[in-house]
Amino acid sequence: MKNITIIGCGVIGAMLAYELSKCRITDGLEVTVMEAKSDPAMVATGASLGVLMAVCSAKARGTLVRLRLASLSKYDRLISELTEQTNQDILYNRNGLLNLYRSPNAETTARSLIEIRRKQGFELQWLEHQKIIERFSQWQAEGGLFSPCDRAVHPPQLVKALVSAATENGVKFLWNRPVKNLEDISSDRLVITSGLGSNPLVATFLKNQTQDLLQPVGGQAVRVKVPNLNLKAIVHAENEDGSDINIVPLGDDQYWLGATLEFEYAPLPRQANVTLLLEQAIAWCPTFARAEVLETWAGDRPRPDGFQSPILGFVPNHPHMLIATGHYRNGVMMAPVTAQITKDLLLTGDSDLPWRPFALKS
Ligand SMILES: Cc1cc2nc3c(=O)[nH]c(=O)nc-3n(C[C@H](O)[C@H](O)[C@H](O)COP(=O)(O)OP(=O)(O)OC[C@H]3O[C@@H](n4cnc5c(N)ncnc54)[C@H](O)[C@@H]3O)c2cc1C
Repeated sequence: MKNITIIGCGVIGAMLAYELSKCRITDGLEVTVMEAKSDPAMVATGASLGVLMAVCSAKARGTLVRLRLASLSKYDRLISELTEQTNQDILYNRNGLLNLYRSPNAETTARSLIEIRRKQGFELQWLEHQKIIERFSQWQAEGGLFSPCDRAVHPPQLVKALVSAATENGVKFLWNRPVKNLEDISSDRLVITSGLGSNPLVATFLKNQTQDLLQPVGGQAVRVKVPNLNLKAIVHAENEDGSDINIVPLGDDQYWLGATLEFEYAPLPRQANVTLLLEQAIAWCPTFARAEVLETWAGDRPRPDGFQSPILGFVPNHPHMLIATGHYRNGVMMAPVTAQITKDLLLTGDSDLPWRPFALKS
């Protein structure tokens, strides 16, 4: 195998290109990325808040949890490596994540998660209401789980650095190159990392699939300025209606708030539901009543329809074609481990990481 073509340059395609670029010389690979847009990260990745929440996630065990924890564990080193190579700024929050709870019953479940994560090698701390007030001031919560290891990264800045580093290492990026038909590409291996754009590309290869492989699930977010809030950690909280909100500090008194979860499809661009997001934030922290809205946007998450998220591995009956998509709400979170698995599959045909549960079945 000599040539590898990656289709799509969101966070998944860019991370894979970078990973492959590190072994390009020794393995004699020619890696090309074909992207439909004029720049990277202009679709789901550009809308993302970049929260890397693996340790604090309510799901305690299972293959997906194992992959998420493995992915998170790669991030600190990845960011140092990229910053050193490219000299570019990548906003990366190492101040931990505070997961807030309103229900007094939350403590029992939280304590059992703390014990499970401890055995998995990750720290979590339970904070009583009073401790939250002392450490984080104005938050209206019964209690919270503080996770020192969870992170947030600025997705477009991350992808820009990945593309710069991969380019320097010899990967070729072709912009404004929408792929219409996979059979038009002559390459030893193809990897489909085109998010929602994967639907038409794979349709002809999945004969038993009657509906689209991926469904768009909308999300809206806002950037606000809140003087004197002084929040350093990322905050995640479940709202009373079962939805959740992330609050991501950006520096200079600015924060991202989001994102909504919308299953009813409406074409982009859409109006962001600023009022809803602000009300949710105010319910947890009244200081958000002073928020000045600086920017609003909406995006679509690629969610597998009838398959487990994400979709990894070989396209059935086409061993030279691989797919890495459908990361739904966790594409930035899962990008490093997805790139590792896909690289292993490209170079050796298998991976020590668990990928088979996420493979398409013929
Ligand atoms: C509002 C919102 C908030 C989110 N917050 C988070 C978060 O906090 N943490 C997290 O981990 N995830 C989050 N996500 C999810 C995350 O954004 C996605 O899972 C992730 O970006 C998917 O990356 P991707 O590379 O697969 O897809 P994309 O970013 O969509 O990239 C696919 C690329 O393929 C290109 N393409 C498509 N078709 C073709 C074609 N035929 N030929 C060539 N190129 C093509 C597209 O132009 C695009 O650049 C959020 C998503 C949204 C919408």
